[in-house]
Amino acid sequence: MADKDVDLFVIGAGSGGVRAARIAASYGARVMIAEEFRVGGTCVIRGCVPKKLLVYASRFAQDFEDAAGFGWTVPEKPTFSWPTLIANKDREIDRLEAAYVATLERWKVQIVRARAVIEDANTIRLSTGEKVRTKTILIATGGWPHMGPNIPGLEHVISSNEAFHLEDMPKRIVIQGGGYIAVEFACVFARLGSKVTLVYRGENILRGFDDDIREHLRLEMQARGIKVICGHTVDAVEKQGDAYLSKLSDGSTVAADKVMFAIGRRPNVMGIGCEALKMECHEHGGIEVDEFSRTSVPNVYAIGDVTNRVNLTPVAIREGHAFADTLYGGKPTTVDHHNVPTAVFSEPELGVIGLTEAQAREQFDTDVYKTSFRPLKATLSGRAGRVFMKLLVDASTNLVVGCHIAGPDAGEMIQLVAIAMKMKATKADFDGTMAVHPTMAEELVTMREKAATYKRGQA
Ligand code: NDP
Repeated sequence: MADKDVDLFVIGAGSGGVRAARIAASYGARVMIAEEFRVGGTCVIRGCVPKKLLVYASRFAQDFEDAAGFGWTVPEKPTFSWPTLIANKDREIDRLEAAYVATLERWKVQIVRARAVIEDANTIRLSTGEKVRTKTILIATGGWPHMGPNIPGLEHVISSNEAFHLEDMPKRIVIQGGGYIAVEFACVFARLGSKVTLVYRGENILRGFDDDIREHLRLEMQARGIKVICGHTVDAVEKQGDAYLSKLSDGSTVAADKVMFAIGRRPNVMGIGCEALKMECHEHGGIEVDEFSRTSVPNVYAIGDVTNRVNLTPVAIREGHAFADTLYGGKPTTVDHHNVPTAVFSEPELGVIGLTEAQAREQFDTDVYKTSFRPLKATLSGRAGRVFMKLLVDASTNLVVGCHIAGPDAGEMIQLVAIAMKMKATKADFDGTMAVHPTMAEELVTMREKAATYKRGQA
Protein backbone atom coordinates (compact mmCIF):
# COMPACT_ATOMS: atom_id res chain seq x y z
CA MET A 1 0.00 0.00 0.00
CA ALA A 2 1.40 3.40 -0.95
CA ASP A 3 1.49 6.22 1.61
CA LYS A 4 0.39 8.82 -0.93
CA ASP A 5 -1.34 9.00 -4.28
CA VAL A 6 -0.62 11.64 -6.97
CA ASP A 7 -1.17 12.30 -10.68
CA LEU A 8 2.41 13.34 -11.39
CA PHE A 9 5.64 12.61 -9.55
CA VAL A 10 8.59 14.75 -10.67
CA ILE A 11 12.09 13.60 -9.75
CA GLY A 12 14.40 16.61 -9.55
CA ALA A 13 13.50 20.23 -8.75
CA GLY A 14 15.75 21.99 -11.24
CA SER A 15 14.62 24.48 -13.87
CA GLY A 16 12.85 21.86 -16.01
CA GLY A 17 11.25 19.87 -13.19
CA VAL A 18 9.97 22.94 -11.39
CA ARG A 19 8.41 24.37 -14.56
CA ALA A 20 6.73 21.07 -15.42
CA ALA A 21 5.40 20.64 -11.86
CA ARG A 22 4.05 24.17 -11.66
CA ILE A 23 2.31 24.11 -15.04
CA ALA A 24 0.87 20.63 -14.48
CA ALA A 25 -0.49 21.78 -11.10
CA SER A 26 -1.97 24.89 -12.72
CA TYR A 27 -4.04 22.55 -14.91
CA GLY A 28 -5.33 20.81 -11.81
CA ALA A 29 -2.98 17.83 -11.54
CA ARG A 30 -1.98 16.62 -8.06
CA VAL A 31 1.80 16.96 -8.23
CA MET A 32 4.65 15.92 -5.98
CA ILE A 33 8.28 16.85 -6.64
CA ALA A 34 11.32 15.31 -4.97
CA GLU A 35 14.67 17.03 -4.55
CA GLU A 36 17.56 15.50 -2.64
CA PHE A 37 19.73 18.64 -2.65
CA ARG A 38 18.38 22.17 -3.13
CA VAL A 39 15.34 23.40 -5.05
CA GLY A 40 16.55 25.26 -8.14
CA GLY A 41 18.92 22.64 -9.50
CA THR A 42 22.15 23.22 -11.36
CA CYS A 43 21.21 26.49 -13.04
CA VAL A 44 20.22 28.31 -9.88
CA ILE A 45 22.39 26.64 -7.26
CA ARG A 46 25.70 25.85 -9.00
CA GLY A 47 25.45 26.86 -12.63
CA CYS A 48 24.18 29.69 -14.79
CA VAL A 49 23.08 32.12 -12.08
CA PRO A 50 26.07 32.02 -9.69
CA LYS A 51 28.36 31.85 -12.74
CA LYS A 52 26.89 35.04 -14.19
CA LEU A 53 27.31 36.78 -10.83
CA LEU A 54 30.98 35.79 -10.87
CA VAL A 55 31.22 37.06 -14.45
CA TYR A 56 29.78 40.43 -13.40
CA ALA A 57 32.24 40.61 -10.52
CA SER A 58 35.17 39.88 -12.77
CA ARG A 59 34.20 42.53 -15.33
CA PHE A 60 34.60 45.35 -12.82
CA ALA A 61 38.35 44.81 -13.04
CA GLN A 62 38.44 46.21 -16.55
CA ASP A 63 35.66 48.73 -15.90
CA PHE A 64 37.89 50.41 -13.32
CA GLU A 65 40.75 50.50 -15.81
CA ASP A 66 38.53 51.76 -18.63
CA ALA A 67 37.06 54.54 -16.49
CA ALA A 68 40.37 56.41 -16.42
CA GLY A 69 40.18 57.21 -20.14
CA PHE A 70 36.78 58.82 -19.53
CA GLY A 71 38.17 61.20 -16.94
CA TRP A 72 37.63 59.24 -13.77
CA THR A 73 40.31 59.03 -11.15
CA VAL A 74 40.32 55.52 -9.78
CA PRO A 75 42.57 54.13 -7.05
CA GLU A 76 45.73 52.74 -8.56
CA LYS A 77 44.80 49.25 -7.44
CA PRO A 78 41.15 48.69 -6.55
CA THR A 79 40.91 45.81 -4.11
CA PHE A 80 38.68 42.79 -4.40
CA SER A 81 37.37 40.43 -1.72
CA TRP A 82 36.53 36.92 -2.90
CA PRO A 83 34.84 35.97 0.42
CA THR A 84 32.53 39.01 0.13
CA LEU A 85 31.57 38.06 -3.41
CA ILE A 86 30.91 34.44 -2.46
CA ALA A 87 28.86 35.40 0.62
CA ASN A 88 26.75 37.86 -1.40
CA LYS A 89 26.33 35.32 -4.18
CA ASP A 90 25.22 32.69 -1.65
CA ARG A 91 22.67 35.10 -0.19
CA GLU A 92 21.18 35.66 -3.64
CA ILE A 93 21.06 31.92 -4.31
CA ASP A 94 19.22 31.41 -0.99
CA ARG A 95 16.70 34.08 -2.03
CA LEU A 96 16.17 32.45 -5.41
CA GLU A 97 15.74 29.01 -3.90
CA ALA A 98 13.11 30.42 -1.53
CA ALA A 99 11.34 32.02 -4.52
CA TYR A 100 11.24 28.68 -6.35
CA VAL A 101 9.84 26.96 -3.26
CA ALA A 102 7.23 29.70 -2.82
CA THR A 103 6.11 29.33 -6.44
CA LEU A 104 5.69 25.58 -6.07
CA GLU A 105 3.78 26.02 -2.82
CA ARG A 106 1.54 28.65 -4.37
CA TRP A 107 0.49 26.07 -6.95
CA LYS A 108 0.04 23.42 -4.24
CA VAL A 109 2.87 21.24 -5.51
CA GLN A 110 4.03 18.99 -2.65
CA ILE A 111 7.80 19.22 -2.20
CA VAL A 112 9.62 16.28 -0.67
CA ARG A 113 13.20 16.83 0.39
CA ALA A 114 14.34 13.28 -0.25
CA ARG A 115 15.91 11.03 -2.82
CA ALA A 116 13.32 9.35 -5.00
CA VAL A 117 13.81 5.99 -6.68
CA ILE A 118 11.48 4.46 -9.24
CA GLU A 119 10.27 1.10 -7.98
CA ASP A 120 7.90 0.40 -10.85
CA ALA A 121 6.12 2.53 -13.45
CA ASN A 122 3.56 3.68 -10.86
CA THR A 123 5.52 3.56 -7.60
CA ILE A 124 8.20 5.84 -6.18
CA ARG A 125 10.21 4.94 -3.10
CA LEU A 126 11.54 7.86 -1.08
CA SER A 127 14.68 7.82 1.05
CA THR A 128 12.39 8.66 3.98
CA GLY A 129 10.94 5.16 3.61
CA GLU A 130 7.60 6.38 2.22
CA LYS A 131 6.11 5.10 -1.01
CA VAL A 132 4.11 7.19 -3.45
CA ARG A 133 1.70 5.85 -6.04
CA THR A 134 1.60 7.95 -9.21
CA LYS A 135 -0.09 7.90 -12.60
CA THR A 136 2.85 9.57 -14.36
CA ILE A 137 6.55 9.99 -13.62
CA LEU A 138 8.73 12.79 -14.93
CA ILE A 139 12.50 12.35 -14.63
CA ALA A 140 14.26 15.71 -14.48
CA THR A 141 17.44 14.81 -12.66
CA GLY A 142 19.82 16.87 -14.81
CA GLY A 143 23.52 16.15 -15.10
CA TRP A 144 26.67 15.99 -13.03
CA PRO A 145 30.30 16.96 -13.72
CA HIS A 146 32.25 14.19 -15.39
CA MET A 147 35.80 13.96 -14.04
CA GLY A 148 37.31 11.70 -16.73
CA PRO A 149 39.55 8.69 -16.29
CA ASN A 150 40.88 7.97 -12.82
CA ILE A 151 44.27 9.67 -13.19
CA PRO A 152 46.73 9.78 -10.28
CA GLY A 153 45.83 12.63 -7.95
CA LEU A 154 42.25 13.04 -9.23
CA GLU A 155 41.15 13.46 -5.61
CA HIS A 156 42.88 16.87 -5.62
CA VAL A 157 40.91 18.12 -8.62
CA ILE A 158 37.80 20.27 -8.23
CA SER A 159 34.84 20.66 -10.58
CA SER A 160 32.73 23.77 -11.16
CA ASN A 161 30.58 22.65 -8.20
CA GLU A 162 33.43 23.36 -5.78
CA ALA A 163 34.69 26.41 -7.67
CA PHE A 164 31.63 28.31 -6.44
CA HIS A 165 32.59 27.71 -2.83
CA LEU A 166 36.36 28.18 -2.67
CA GLU A 167 37.44 29.90 0.54
CA ASP A 168 40.09 31.94 -1.27
CA MET A 169 40.58 33.01 -4.82
CA PRO A 170 43.39 30.88 -6.28
CA LYS A 171 46.40 32.95 -7.29
CA ARG A 172 47.18 30.31 -9.92
CA ILE A 173 44.75 27.83 -11.42
CA VAL A 174 44.96 25.07 -14.02
CA ILE A 175 41.68 24.39 -15.79
CA GLN A 176 41.29 21.37 -18.04
CA GLY A 177 38.63 21.44 -20.79
CA GLY A 178 37.76 23.50 -23.82
CA GLY A 179 33.97 23.78 -23.49
CA TYR A 180 31.61 26.37 -22.03
CA ILE A 181 32.52 25.89 -18.38
CA ALA A 182 36.31 25.73 -18.78
CA VAL A 183 36.37 28.83 -20.97
CA GLU A 184 34.00 30.84 -18.78
CA PHE A 185 35.82 30.04 -15.54
CA ALA A 186 39.22 30.66 -17.15
CA CYS A 187 38.07 34.16 -18.09
CA VAL A 188 36.48 34.86 -14.70
CA PHE A 189 39.55 33.83 -12.72
CA ALA A 190 41.90 35.65 -15.10
CA ARG A 191 40.01 38.93 -14.77
CA LEU A 192 39.91 38.59 -11.01
CA GLY A 193 43.70 38.36 -11.06
CA SER A 194 44.53 34.64 -11.13
CA LYS A 195 47.27 33.29 -13.34
CA VAL A 196 45.27 30.87 -15.49
CA THR A 197 46.46 27.92 -17.57
CA LEU A 198 43.81 26.29 -19.74
CA VAL A 199 44.65 22.79 -20.94
CA TYR A 200 42.59 21.42 -23.80
CA ARG A 201 43.04 18.04 -25.50
CA GLY A 202 42.00 19.12 -29.03
CA GLU A 203 43.32 21.54 -31.62
CA ASN A 204 41.32 24.55 -30.54
CA ILE A 205 38.83 25.40 -27.78
CA LEU A 206 35.03 25.27 -28.17
CA ARG A 207 34.77 22.41 -30.62
CA GLY A 208 31.47 22.63 -32.45
CA PHE A 209 31.49 26.43 -32.60
CA ASP A 210 32.33 28.37 -35.75
CA ASP A 211 36.06 28.18 -36.48
CA ASP A 212 36.52 31.96 -36.81
CA ILE A 213 34.85 32.50 -33.44
CA ARG A 214 36.99 29.82 -31.79
CA GLU A 215 40.17 31.36 -33.14
CA HIS A 216 39.07 34.87 -32.23
CA LEU A 217 38.27 33.88 -28.65
CA ARG A 218 41.48 31.91 -28.13
CA LEU A 219 43.61 34.81 -29.37
CA GLU A 220 41.69 37.30 -27.19
CA MET A 221 42.04 35.05 -24.14
CA GLN A 222 45.76 34.72 -24.77
CA ALA A 223 46.04 38.49 -25.22
CA ARG A 224 44.45 38.85 -21.78
CA GLY A 225 47.16 36.70 -20.23
CA ILE A 226 45.51 33.27 -20.17
CA LYS A 227 47.92 30.53 -21.14
CA VAL A 228 46.04 28.22 -23.51
CA ILE A 229 47.70 24.85 -24.05
CA CYS A 230 46.02 22.83 -26.82
CA GLY A 231 46.70 19.25 -27.83
CA HIS A 232 47.42 18.01 -24.31
CA THR A 233 45.73 16.56 -21.27
CA VAL A 234 46.40 16.67 -17.55
CA ASP A 235 47.60 13.14 -16.82
CA ALA A 236 48.41 13.40 -13.11
CA VAL A 237 48.13 15.87 -10.26
CA GLU A 238 50.59 15.83 -7.39
CA LYS A 239 50.20 17.69 -4.12
CA GLN A 240 53.27 19.70 -3.20
CA GLY A 241 52.78 21.50 0.09
CA ASP A 242 49.85 23.87 -0.43
CA ALA A 243 50.16 23.71 -4.22
CA TYR A 244 49.42 21.16 -6.92
CA LEU A 245 51.62 20.13 -9.79
CA SER A 246 49.73 19.17 -12.96
CA LYS A 247 51.64 16.77 -15.18
CA LEU A 248 50.68 17.20 -18.81
CA SER A 249 50.73 14.58 -21.56
CA ASP A 250 53.87 16.10 -23.12
CA GLY A 251 55.78 15.59 -19.86
CA SER A 252 55.69 19.27 -18.87
CA THR A 253 54.35 20.43 -15.50
CA VAL A 254 52.33 23.42 -14.30
CA ALA A 255 52.19 24.46 -10.64
CA ALA A 256 48.99 26.00 -9.29
CA ASP A 257 46.92 26.52 -6.13
CA LYS A 258 43.91 24.78 -7.64
CA VAL A 259 43.27 22.34 -10.46
CA MET A 260 39.80 22.27 -11.96
CA PHE A 261 38.36 19.94 -14.59
CA ALA A 262 35.43 21.05 -16.73
CA ILE A 263 35.39 18.18 -19.18
CA GLY A 264 31.70 17.71 -19.71
CA ARG A 265 28.68 16.66 -17.73
CA ARG A 266 26.91 13.33 -17.65
CA PRO A 267 23.17 12.68 -17.39
CA ASN A 268 22.14 11.79 -13.84
CA VAL A 269 20.65 8.37 -14.54
CA MET A 270 22.47 6.22 -12.03
CA GLY A 271 20.43 4.86 -9.16
CA ILE A 272 17.08 6.39 -10.07
CA GLY A 273 15.54 3.05 -10.99
CA CYS A 274 15.78 2.97 -14.80
CA GLU A 275 16.71 -0.70 -14.52
CA ALA A 276 13.44 -1.55 -12.75
CA LEU A 277 11.55 -0.24 -15.78
CA LYS A 278 13.89 -1.75 -18.35
CA MET A 279 13.94 1.75 -19.81
CA GLU A 280 16.45 2.80 -22.49
CA CYS A 281 18.96 4.50 -20.18
CA HIS A 282 22.52 5.06 -21.34
CA GLU A 283 24.97 6.20 -18.73
CA HIS A 284 26.63 8.67 -21.13
CA GLY A 285 23.87 9.23 -23.67
CA GLY A 286 21.00 9.99 -21.34
CA ILE A 287 17.43 8.73 -21.39
CA GLU A 288 15.93 8.10 -24.81
CA VAL A 289 12.72 10.07 -25.37
CA ASP A 290 10.39 10.91 -28.26
CA GLU A 291 9.38 14.39 -29.39
CA PHE A 292 6.91 14.62 -26.47
CA SER A 293 9.67 13.66 -23.99
CA ARG A 294 8.11 10.22 -23.47
CA THR A 295 10.51 7.38 -22.61
CA SER A 296 10.18 3.79 -23.78
CA VAL A 297 7.80 3.30 -20.81
CA PRO A 298 4.48 4.95 -21.75
CA ASN A 299 3.72 6.79 -18.49
CA VAL A 300 7.32 7.81 -17.78
CA TYR A 301 8.73 11.01 -19.27
CA ALA A 302 12.11 12.73 -19.07
CA ILE A 303 13.22 16.30 -19.76
CA GLY A 304 16.35 18.43 -19.54
CA ASP A 305 20.00 17.40 -19.30
CA VAL A 306 19.13 13.83 -18.26
CA THR A 307 17.95 13.31 -21.85
CA ASN A 308 21.15 14.83 -23.27
CA ARG A 309 19.44 16.66 -26.13
CA VAL A 310 20.42 20.34 -25.97
CA ASN A 311 21.79 20.81 -22.46
CA LEU A 312 20.75 24.36 -21.72
CA THR A 313 18.42 25.72 -19.03
CA PRO A 314 15.89 27.43 -21.32
CA VAL A 315 15.58 24.21 -23.32
CA ALA A 316 14.83 22.18 -20.17
CA ILE A 317 12.24 24.79 -19.15
CA ARG A 318 10.56 24.61 -22.57
CA GLU A 319 10.59 20.81 -22.47
CA GLY A 320 9.01 20.85 -18.99
CA HIS A 321 6.35 23.33 -20.08
CA ALA A 322 5.59 21.40 -23.27
CA PHE A 323 5.27 18.17 -21.27
CA ALA A 324 2.72 19.75 -18.92
CA ASP A 325 0.76 21.39 -21.76
CA THR A 326 0.63 18.08 -23.60
CA LEU A 327 -0.40 15.88 -20.70
CA TYR A 328 -2.53 18.15 -18.55
CA GLY A 329 -3.44 21.15 -20.72
CA GLY A 330 -4.87 19.31 -23.71
CA LYS A 331 -2.34 21.07 -25.98
CA PRO A 332 0.08 18.58 -27.53
CA THR A 333 3.31 20.59 -27.74
CA THR A 334 6.77 19.73 -28.97
CA VAL A 335 9.96 21.75 -28.57
CA ASP A 336 11.92 22.99 -31.56
CA HIS A 337 15.52 22.02 -30.85
CA HIS A 338 16.81 23.75 -33.99
CA ASN A 339 18.38 27.18 -34.02
CA VAL A 340 18.80 27.35 -30.25
CA PRO A 341 20.70 30.56 -29.49
CA THR A 342 23.44 30.32 -26.91
CA ALA A 343 25.96 32.54 -25.16
CA VAL A 344 29.36 31.84 -23.70
CA PHE A 345 30.15 34.31 -20.93
CA SER A 346 33.81 34.45 -21.77
CA GLU A 347 35.88 37.57 -22.37
CA PRO A 348 34.91 38.59 -24.98
CA GLU A 349 31.40 37.22 -24.65
CA LEU A 350 30.07 35.01 -27.44
CA GLY A 351 26.55 34.85 -28.83
CA VAL A 352 25.82 32.29 -31.51
CA ILE A 353 22.89 30.77 -33.34
CA GLY A 354 22.40 28.43 -36.25
CA LEU A 355 24.97 26.85 -38.49
CA THR A 356 28.71 27.30 -38.37
CA GLU A 357 30.40 28.27 -41.63
CA ALA A 358 31.60 24.70 -42.12
CA GLN A 359 28.09 23.30 -41.62
CA ALA A 360 26.49 25.90 -43.90
CA ARG A 361 28.99 25.27 -46.70
CA GLU A 362 28.29 21.56 -46.50
CA GLN A 363 24.55 22.12 -46.94
CA PHE A 364 24.14 25.18 -49.20
CA ASP A 365 25.77 27.57 -51.58
CA THR A 366 26.84 29.99 -48.87
CA ASP A 367 27.51 33.71 -48.71
CA VAL A 368 29.73 34.72 -45.81
CA TYR A 369 29.63 38.22 -44.30
CA LYS A 370 32.16 39.19 -41.67
CA THR A 371 33.20 42.29 -39.82
CA SER A 372 35.74 43.03 -37.15
CA PHE A 373 36.03 46.42 -35.50
CA ARG A 374 37.20 48.28 -32.45
CA PRO A 375 34.19 49.30 -30.32
CA LEU A 376 33.64 53.03 -29.79
CA LYS A 377 34.19 52.70 -26.05
CA ALA A 378 37.71 51.44 -26.68
CA THR A 379 38.70 54.71 -28.38
CA LEU A 380 38.84 56.49 -25.01
CA SER A 381 39.47 53.55 -22.71
CA GLY A 382 42.38 52.46 -24.88
CA ARG A 383 41.39 48.83 -24.37
CA ALA A 384 42.69 46.43 -26.98
CA GLY A 385 40.45 43.79 -28.50
CA ARG A 386 38.02 43.79 -31.37
CA VAL A 387 34.40 42.85 -31.89
CA PHE A 388 33.85 40.09 -34.44
CA MET A 389 30.58 39.32 -36.25
CA LYS A 390 29.69 36.87 -38.95
CA LEU A 391 26.49 36.18 -40.86
CA LEU A 392 26.01 33.05 -42.95
CA VAL A 393 23.46 33.17 -45.72
CA ASP A 394 21.99 30.40 -47.86
CA ALA A 395 22.77 31.96 -51.26
CA SER A 396 19.84 30.35 -53.05
CA THR A 397 17.10 31.50 -50.63
CA ASN A 398 18.86 34.51 -49.04
CA LEU A 399 17.90 33.09 -45.59
CA VAL A 400 20.24 33.90 -42.72
CA VAL A 401 21.30 30.47 -41.43
CA GLY A 402 23.95 31.38 -38.90
CA CYS A 403 25.07 34.33 -36.79
CA HIS A 404 28.21 34.42 -34.66
CA ILE A 405 29.19 37.34 -32.47
CA ALA A 406 32.16 37.90 -30.17
CA GLY A 407 32.10 41.10 -28.18
CA PRO A 408 30.43 42.96 -25.32
CA ASP A 409 26.80 41.94 -24.79
CA ALA A 410 26.93 39.33 -27.55
CA GLY A 411 24.53 37.22 -25.46
CA GLU A 412 21.97 40.03 -25.45
CA MET A 413 22.38 40.62 -29.18
CA ILE A 414 21.98 36.99 -30.17
CA GLN A 415 18.66 36.72 -28.33
CA LEU A 416 17.22 39.32 -30.72
CA VAL A 417 18.85 37.85 -33.80
CA ALA A 418 17.19 34.59 -32.74
CA ILE A 419 13.74 36.16 -33.13
CA ALA A 420 14.60 37.30 -36.64
CA MET A 421 15.92 33.86 -37.54
CA LYS A 422 12.88 32.15 -36.02
CA MET A 423 10.80 34.35 -38.36
CA LYS A 424 13.00 33.18 -41.22
CA ALA A 425 14.60 36.54 -41.88
CA THR A 426 16.58 36.90 -45.08
CA LYS A 427 19.75 38.89 -45.52
CA ALA A 428 17.56 41.44 -47.37
CA ASP A 429 15.45 41.78 -44.18
CA PHE A 430 18.61 42.45 -42.17
CA ASP A 431 19.76 44.99 -44.77
CA GLY A 432 16.33 46.65 -44.87
CA THR A 433 16.31 47.13 -41.08
CA MET A 434 17.31 50.62 -39.94
CA ALA A 435 20.50 50.75 -37.89
CA VAL A 436 20.62 52.01 -34.30
CA HIS A 437 23.56 54.34 -34.07
CA PRO A 438 26.05 54.28 -32.45
CA THR A 439 25.85 50.69 -31.33
CA MET A 440 27.78 47.53 -32.00
CA ALA A 441 24.63 45.70 -33.07
CA GLU A 442 24.12 48.07 -36.01
CA GLU A 443 26.90 46.22 -37.80
CA LEU A 444 24.50 43.28 -38.09
CA VAL A 445 22.34 45.31 -40.49
CA THR A 446 25.12 47.12 -42.31
CA MET A 447 27.30 44.24 -43.50
CA ARG A 448 27.03 44.85 -47.24
CA GLU A 449 30.19 43.31 -48.68
CA LYS A 450 30.40 39.54 -48.95
CA ALA A 451 33.64 38.21 -47.47
CA ALA A 452 33.27 35.08 -49.61
CA THR A 453 30.85 32.93 -51.57
CA TYR A 454 31.15 29.15 -51.66
CA LYS A 455 29.42 26.56 -53.80
CA ARG A 456 27.88 23.76 -51.73
CA GLY A 457 30.60 21.36 -50.61
CA GLN A 458 33.39 23.61 -51.93
CA ALA A 459 36.52 23.37 -49.78
P1 NDP B 1 31.37 20.72 -22.79
O1 NDP B 1 30.74 19.50 -23.31
O2 NDP B 1 30.94 22.05 -23.29
O3 NDP B 1 32.93 20.63 -22.97
C1 NDP B 1 33.67 19.56 -22.47
C2 NDP B 1 35.11 19.79 -22.78
O4 NDP B 1 35.92 18.83 -22.10
C3 NDP B 1 35.42 19.66 -24.26
O5 NDP B 1 36.37 20.63 -24.57
C4 NDP B 1 35.95 18.24 -24.37
O6 NDP B 1 36.86 18.08 -25.41
C5 NDP B 1 36.71 18.12 -23.05
N1 NDP B 1 36.84 16.74 -22.60
C6 NDP B 1 35.89 15.79 -22.54
N2 NDP B 1 36.38 14.65 -22.02
C7 NDP B 1 37.67 14.87 -21.74
C8 NDP B 1 38.70 14.09 -21.18
N3 NDP B 1 38.49 12.83 -20.80
N4 NDP B 1 39.91 14.64 -21.04
C9 NDP B 1 40.13 15.92 -21.41
N5 NDP B 1 39.20 16.72 -21.93
C10 NDP B 1 37.98 16.21 -22.10
O7 NDP B 1 31.18 20.60 -21.22
P2 NDP B 1 31.27 21.65 -20.04
O8 NDP B 1 31.68 20.83 -18.87
O9 NDP B 1 32.08 22.84 -20.38
O10 NDP B 1 29.76 22.11 -19.91
C11 NDP B 1 28.72 21.16 -19.76
C12 NDP B 1 27.45 21.64 -20.39
O11 NDP B 1 26.89 22.67 -19.60
C13 NDP B 1 27.64 22.27 -21.77
O12 NDP B 1 27.52 21.34 -22.80
C14 NDP B 1 26.52 23.26 -21.85
O13 NDP B 1 25.42 22.63 -22.42
C15 NDP B 1 26.22 23.61 -20.42
N6 NDP B 1 26.69 24.95 -20.07
C16 NDP B 1 26.18 26.03 -20.73
C17 NDP B 1 26.60 27.30 -20.43
C18 NDP B 1 26.04 28.48 -21.16
O14 NDP B 1 25.01 28.35 -21.79
N7 NDP B 1 26.69 29.64 -21.10
C19 NDP B 1 27.60 27.56 -19.40
C20 NDP B 1 28.08 26.35 -18.80
C21 NDP B 1 27.64 25.12 -19.12
P3 NDP B 1 36.38 17.77 -26.92
O15 NDP B 1 35.88 19.05 -27.45
O16 NDP B 1 37.63 17.31 -27.57
O17 NDP B 1 35.34 16.71 -26.82
